[in-house]
Amino acid sequence: MIVVMKIDSGEKELNEILKRLTKEGFTGHLSRGVERTVIGVVGRTYPELRDMLELLPGVEEVIPITKPYKLSSREFQPQDTTIKVGDLNIGGEEVVVMAGPCAVETEEQVVETARAVKAAGANILRGGAFKPSTSPYSFRGLGEDGLKILARAREETGLPIITEVMTPQDVELVSGYADILQVGARNMQNFILLDEVGKARKPVMLKRGMSATIEEWLLSAEYILSQGNRQLMLCERGIRTFETYTRNTMDVSAIPIIEKLSHLPIIADPSHGTGKWHLVAPLALAAVAAGADGLMIEVHPSPDHALKDGAQSLTFENFQRLMAQVVAVAASVGRKIAGSAKG
Ligand code: PEP
Ligand code: MN
Repeated sequence: MIVVMKIDSGEKELNEILKRLTKEGFTGHLSRGVERTVIGVVGRTYPELRDMLELLPGVEEVIPITKPYKLSSREFQPQDTTIKVGDLNIGGEEVVVMAGPCAVETEEQVVETARAVKAAGANILRGGAFKPSTSPYSFRGLGEDGLKILARAREETGLPIITEVMTPQDVELVSGYADILQVGARNMQNFILLDEVGKARKPVMLKRGMSATIEEWLLSAEYILSQGNRQLMLCERGIRTFETYTRNTMDVSAIPIIEKLSHLPIIADPSHGTGKWHLVAPLALAAVAAGADGLMIEVHPSPDHALKDGAQSLTFENFQRLMAQVVAVAASVGRKIAGSAKG
């Protein structure tokens, strides 16, 4: 349920309510909007709690949240969440572009890619050091050595980095290097990992599980938010359907659906969403047109030599071409790509 505070209520009343909630065994999750402050109360709430809260000074009303997900819902927080990463404001007016190789292979590969994607207008460098892999025989990443390479590429280019964390034990290590922690599709329902990144003080990007419904995805988001980490964004990366031409079916409709149901920023990953490099540009443009707050695009200096996901990776030249189109499509829906001149 959410406790809506009266417009003229102050900090004193707010603190009294938070104290009272703690006493009753609940945590109050605060959301300060432009017009009103609300307190989210989640867990096993009961009617008497609602009645009691409604009697407290400063309370306008107490409204049950009907959706199973609470803190991620627009009911709890009507205004968009924005996440500051360096100069970027993810979820704000501008669309951010994350680009880089699927996997960190060598320092040369990552630094060269970082320079190229930055020159083309990307804002964040991506690259996996810990790689989830369907087959144990595929490349599984360089681990901490890969994180060090990413940090060097950040030093060289100034681009913040996003990289995947696969286990709860690695959250501390990866947080020491990354600007954004990525939770991959295969781990969307690894609840212990979700708890752990929820305790981290780093922004998190939660990818949609390959067979997850939107509700299941938002419930996973709820794990992270309820641990206190509100710097959370979601990423649509395609879902499994009967279609075999593409690796996954990119669910573009999830973008406006998430925007309707949730205040969390929504990023689109057409690389994993399609699995084919020639489909990446059209789906990236569709995602921006549909309202995505960002893109995640796999780029490799030489896709045919990539250790992972070469088939869906763009060359530098193709990425550069895509960026020019993305700027134009963003402008047509009243957005701007972060750092680009055109609005
Ligand atoms: C990735 O981003 O490299 C990745 C493994 O993605 P996903 O978890 O969406 O498959
Ligand atoms: Mn990949």
